[in-house]
Amino acid sequence: MKAVRRFEGMVVAITGAASGIGEATARRFAAEGAILALCDLSEDALAQMVTRTGIAESARTLRAVDVSDIDAISSFIDDAAQSLGRLDVLVNNAGIGCFGHVDEITAEQWRRTMAVDLDAVFFGSRAALPYLRTAGGCIVNTASISGLFADPGLAAYNVAKAGVVNLTRNMAVDHAGEGIRVNCICPGGVGTAMLKSHLRDAAIMEDYERLVPMGRVGTADEMAAGIAFLASSDASYITGTTLTIDGGVTAQTGQPNFDRLYRQRGWDKKILRG
Ligand code: NAD
Repeated sequence: MKAVRRFEGMVVAITGAASGIGEATARRFAAEGAILALCDLSEDALAQMVTRTGIAESARTLRAVDVSDIDAISSFIDDAAQSLGRLDVLVNNAGIGCFGHVDEITAEQWRRTMAVDLDAVFFGSRAALPYLRTAGGCIVNTASISGLFADPGLAAYNVAKAGVVNLTRNMAVDHAGEGIRVNCICPGGVGTAMLKSHLRDAAIMEDYERLVPMGRVGTADEMAAGIAFLASSDASYITGTTLTIDGGVTAQTGQPNFDRLYRQRGWDKKILRG
C-alpha cells in the first residue's frame, strides 16, 4: 500500500523531540513528507536521534532549547519559520513529571513543573501564532489523562496538564476565526523513558497494565498517530478537542474490578440488590 503523505512540504515544529513521543512524532511527520524543526534540551541528542532513525534529511532545524525559557522557545520558532519559509504545525510536546503531595514537593518543584509543562505551551503557541495565521496552520499539545482526572501523588503534574487541556480549548475558540485549529492528545501510560522512570520496576508496570482494559501500555507510535491525525486535513472540522489515547483506562469509573473478583471466587452474578 502506498504511504499516505498528508504533510508534503509543510513545516512542523516539535518540542521535546529527542525521545519518546516527540521522537515518534518526528518520524511520523517525516514519513508523511513534512520538513521538521526539532528542539530538546540537547542538540547532540537530537542529532543522534535523526541519524539513528534516518530522518536527518527532513530535520532541517535542530536546536537546544529549554522550553520554559520564553526567549529561547520564541527564537527557535522565529528562526525555524523564517529560515524554512513557513510554519504549518506546532506540536507542544516537551514535558516532565513531578511526584509528591503538595506538602512534600517544594515551591521550586511546583514552579518548574508549571514552567515546563504549562508555561511552555503558552510561550510556544504565542510565538507560533503569527506564522500559523499566515499558513492556516494548527497546534497539537501533548496533555495527558492526568490532566482530566486526579492521580494519587501527582498534584503538580496533574494541575499543569489540566492547564494544557483548558488552554487548548481557550486557544481553539480564540483562534478558530483565524483558521487556526488547536487540539490536544491525552495519552494514558506510554512505554517511554518518562513512564519507566516513574514506574521503576517490572512489578509496578505489571500492576499498571492490569488496570488497562487493553492490557498493555501504549506505544509512542500510537501517540504520534493521534497527533498526526489532529494536525492533518482529516481533522479539518476538529478544534478544541481532547483525543484520549489510553487503551480504555478512563472509560472506567475506577471502582474495584468486581467482574474479576466474582470470577476468581466462582460466585454467581445476580441482579444487584440493596
Ligand atoms: P520522554 O521523557 O521520553 O520525552 C520528553 C522529552 O522532553 C525528552 O526528550 C526531554 O529531554 C524533553 N524535555 C524535558 N524537559 C524539557 C525542557 N525544559 N525543554 C525542552 N525539552 C525538554 O517522555 P515522553 O513520554 O515522550 O513525554 C512526552 C510528553 O508526553 C510529555 O509532555 C509528557 O508529559 C506526555 N505524556 C507522557 C505519558 C507517558 O506515559 N509517557 C503519558 C501522558 C503524557
